[in-house]
Amino acid sequence: MDRVLLTGVTGYIGQHCAAELLRQGYDVVGTIRSRVKADATRIAIAKVAPADGLSFVEADLLSDKGWAEAMKGCAYVMHVASPFMLAEPKDENEMIAPAVEGTKRVIAAAQLARVKRLVLTSSTFAMIAGKDSGRYGPDAWSDTDASIGAYAKSKTLAERAAWATAKGGDMELTVVNPGAVFGPSLGATMDGQSVEMMTAMISGKMPMIPDMSMGMVDVRDVARLHVKAMTADCAAGKRFIAASAEPIEMATVASVLRKAGYTKVPSRRAPTVLLKLMGLFDGEVRGMLPFIGKAAAYENEATFDVLEWQPTPLETSFREMAAAISGEIKVINQQCR
Ligand code: NAP
Repeated sequence: MDRVLLTGVTGYIGQHCAAELLRQGYDVVGTIRSRVKADATRIAIAKVAPADGLSFVEADLLSDKGWAEAMKGCAYVMHVASPFMLAEPKDENEMIAPAVEGTKRVIAAAQLARVKRLVLTSSTFAMIAGKDSGRYGPDAWSDTDASIGAYAKSKTLAERAAWATAKGGDMELTVVNPGAVFGPSLGATMDGQSVEMMTAMISGKMPMIPDMSMGMVDVRDVARLHVKAMTADCAAGKRFIAASAEPIEMATVASVLRKAGYTKVPSRRAPTVLLKLMGLFDGEVRGMLPFIGKAAAYENEATFDVLEWQPTPLETSFREMAAAISGEIKVINQQCR
């Protein structure tokens, strides 16, 4: 069976992509920055997929070292890795450099290795940041001249760099643009922005719900869509929006969780003026501000038609994510006693 190079295999989405590839019989070479994470990543993936075909190579998005070797014999590449934090860094290049330089580096190495197709994980944040509320389709691009925060800027510039680098070459490029991703993490550790946000909600660390609405998607759907995007005949050269057509309020997520018995989930909405004030001191709140009070809807028909998306009900995603995290919290609390 074909071999796939997967970047970001240690992460929330990358682990699910690895599991889906392995379940479908592919061999997976996962790139890791440090061997330290290899065992925990293998254990996490092996919970849900046969892990015999999984191997690891060391490679960092910020260095040329290891990429040419890693690509040897790979028919496909899934480039999932990118720094994902809503908190604003001191220097935006902390996020932009690995995203943009890393994407160029991975694509160049894949082209040299004569890879058939590369699937890039972009984001709806590469499409709607700096824009007004409205309905956006696969031709939408965020406005990098607006104040959109380092993460949205990194994703927009990285995706633009991907299309530019791949242009004219033999290797096909397909891009998946997920909205906010929910669903259980496979990870042994609880890092990653998505998992952190859900942990804050159910543990009472988030005192109020921000006025944010987003297109959302289940993490297992994101993985299946990546694999389909890798092989579907008509997917080459296209962007696929992996997000609900209508935006869902964070207050709705909170309400589903409260009904499921997570009593610490807040019910009060954070006044926008308070968030603006908090943003002066808190980098994470500052990172959310460009999206507060806005709602983007999506033209996601191609994801259904070409990638045959069968969305997991999002209420299931919210509940299963919370259950996976609260299981982890219980284990950690027991270990600390
Ligand atoms: P995550 O759990 O934080 O995973 C990020 C991955 O990128 C990790 O494997 C991390 O490796 C790797 N990485 C970061 N910097 C790197 C570097 N310099 N060199 C090599 N690897 C590096 O985040 P995620 O939620 O799975 O996100 C994965 C992708 O999906 C990202 O491209 C993100 O922009 C995109 N996305 C996520 C969401 C969401 O809601 N989660 C929505 C839309 C798009 P380490 O383990 O070594 O840190």
